[in-house]
Amino acid sequence: MARRALPRRPARHRCPSLWPCKPITLGLMTEGPSLDTIATWLRDAQAIVVLTGAGISTESGIPDFRGPNGVWTKNPEAEKTANLSFYIADPEIRKMAWQNRLKSEIWQAQPNAGHLAVVELEHKTNVHTLVTQNVDGLHLAAGSSRDSLIEIHGTVHGVKCLQCGWRGPMTETLERVTAGEADPECLQCSGILKSATISFGENLVAEDLERSQRAASECDVFVALGTSLGVFPAAALPEIAMSHAARLVIANGEPTPFDPFADAVLRRPLGELLPELVALI
Ligand SMILES: [Zn+2]
Repeated sequence: MARRALPRRPARHRCPSLWPCKPITLGLMTEGPSLDTIATWLRDAQAIVVLTGAGISTESGIPDFRGPNGVWTKNPEAEKTANLSFYIADPEIRKMAWQNRLKSEIWQAQPNAGHLAVVELEHKTNVHTLVTQNVDGLHLAAGSSRDSLIEIHGTVHGVKCLQCGWRGPMTETLERVTAGEADPECLQCSGILKSATISFGENLVAEDLERSQRAASECDVFVALGTSLGVFPAAALPEIAMSHAARLVIANGEPTPFDPFADAVLRRPLGELLPELVALI
């Protein structure tokens, strides 16, 4: 399906420096723009970019990795399964990774009210691109458009061969693990198989990164949901959007480095906030 061309963005004054040129309210934004005002920005926008991070999936029971009860905090050895050089070098790490995938809570996870509200936002407004840092596939499960979705860190629902580039569904390879193959190899070339996610030490897909950056540079509203905006490439996208005069709306449980520069900062749980916001559009 052909992708919709980005419309021309109307000119809007924006202080060119990163220092804010207007009063800013932090915390609960008690004096910040109302949800009605934010809804108006979204309704009037010609091209919206939405970026989501782990915070939108916590209400679906997806475990975090680095928090106090995180998978890697409780079992530091497991972090090696997400590191490409360990994964390639050590068959024992690969066996652990396949066992972890087999037992993962991710297969039972269902989209929550936040994911469904993003779908509703796509129906009601001009969401041009949805970039997610999540690998859980819950935006697609909720019904978000595959054409406008960029899974910038890949997906656990796919498998890829590190040698020949073959790709296939995760379910089929997990069936081989269940049947007794502790470290299943590529059926095309006998290469090492891995989930189709971006591991530490692995490059992002250049085309996905370029699409995300281009969309950020051409949007007029950038919405960051459930992401701390602390690591590349997520941290680069709102900066690109701001430098092209887009409005920036942030909804995250914790402060982000971009809060002082945002047009609105919201702290409520996304499963509660997003349906309320989208209903106002
Ligand atoms: Zn292969």
